[in-house]
Amino acid sequence: MSKKVTKEQIRAFAQSQGLDLVGFANIERFENAPKRMHPASIFPECKTVIAVTRRILRGNWRGIEEGTYWPTYTYYGYHGLLNSFFIPVGVYETACFIEDHGFEAVPYYPGVPETQPPAEPLRPDGVPAQVHLAIRIAGVAAGVGEMGWSKVFMTKKFGPRQRLAAILTDLEVEPDPLLEPNTLCDRCMACVTGCQADAIPHVKDGKTVKIKIEDKEYEWGDVDMGRCTLGYHGGDTQVSPFLHKTFPGLSFDVRKQHVSEDMAYKMCWPRTFGTWRKTAEDPSGYLVEGHAQIAKWGGGAGAGSYGIGGSRGCMRSCFDRIERCDKCDQTFKGGPFIKRDRWLLPCDVPPNPDLAGKACGVPDDTNPTR
Ligand code: SF4
Repeated sequence: MSKKVTKEQIRAFAQSQGLDLVGFANIERFENAPKRMHPASIFPECKTVIAVTRRILRGNWRGIEEGTYWPTYTYYGYHGLLNSFFIPVGVYETACFIEDHGFEAVPYYPGVPETQPPAEPLRPDGVPAQVHLAIRIAGVAAGVGEMGWSKVFMTKKFGPRQRLAAILTDLEVEPDPLLEPNTLCDRCMACVTGCQADAIPHVKDGKTVKIKIEDKEYEWGDVDMGRCTLGYHGGDTQVSPFLHKTFPGLSFDVRKQHVSEDMAYKMCWPRTFGTWRKTAEDPSGYLVEGHAQIAKWGGGAGAGSYGIGGSRGCMRSCFDRIERCDKCDQTFKGGPFIKRDRWLLPCDVPPNPDLAGKACGVPDDTNPTR
């Protein structure tokens, strides 16, 4: 095959493989990135970072918005298929297309370790393992979109409704133009109001994160990732009817928590994937049966994750609002997304008088706490 390939040919090919938006950043746009997040730490000869997106269907959230059905979001819109199949197939085929033209292409899966444990470099003066890109910033650098106030990645076509991946290549192409900061996000604060976990600071609080790419400064709210994680992954009684079912009498206000993202994962993950003995009180054998069942829908490609909160503020409130303001290219004939009063459960789960304060039913001589 001819060695000549243009970025428009790559973009067209990627879109023919199901990817929606495709942008190109030259490696110089990452000059301010720390080494552990720099594309050249993965591929030192990288000249171009191709950022790609695929939409999250608006309908993926419908069941959660109505408070009736959870699996669609995790299965189609998150780790079940979108992150683990729909996007990677397009990325992989596009990487094959680039390598067919004689350039190395590193398909980059954006599932990241949530922490960066200290590690020694494997090569003298090298970068320690566990490099990962800030995929949303790669999307900004490639001119695909910008960061919204709530730290979501926004595009003109879909608002906040997409997930990203990337391809690193030694092919050199002209980069796409950067978006002017605040082109898409107008600081309306609908995300702040809609986030039941109180994870997104108000613009008046002045808590921001800033980055600079070329001459442009992008800024967004410094999101409380502990509360965000609790809200999203099943640690928030306000948005999990499953916690209400499993833990009658529990009182937990996510808005008052001051925990790190890692601590929040420790609070949510084991409770979702863990098991417990089957008892008359809860014969399921899970810690939280509802969360465990939803997590089964998120197991695609072994990279299983799950969503309970369904991004109430940063996604649903945001795209509902920008669609109402005609600021999103994709429109819907059926009108606004939020059509009814929104549901929210209390932080305090009403106790079950038959269970409150009762012993666990295990004889004293086998109960190690007695
Ligand atoms: S709701 Fe969307 S557009 Fe409005 S401030 Fe939040 S991120 Fe920006």
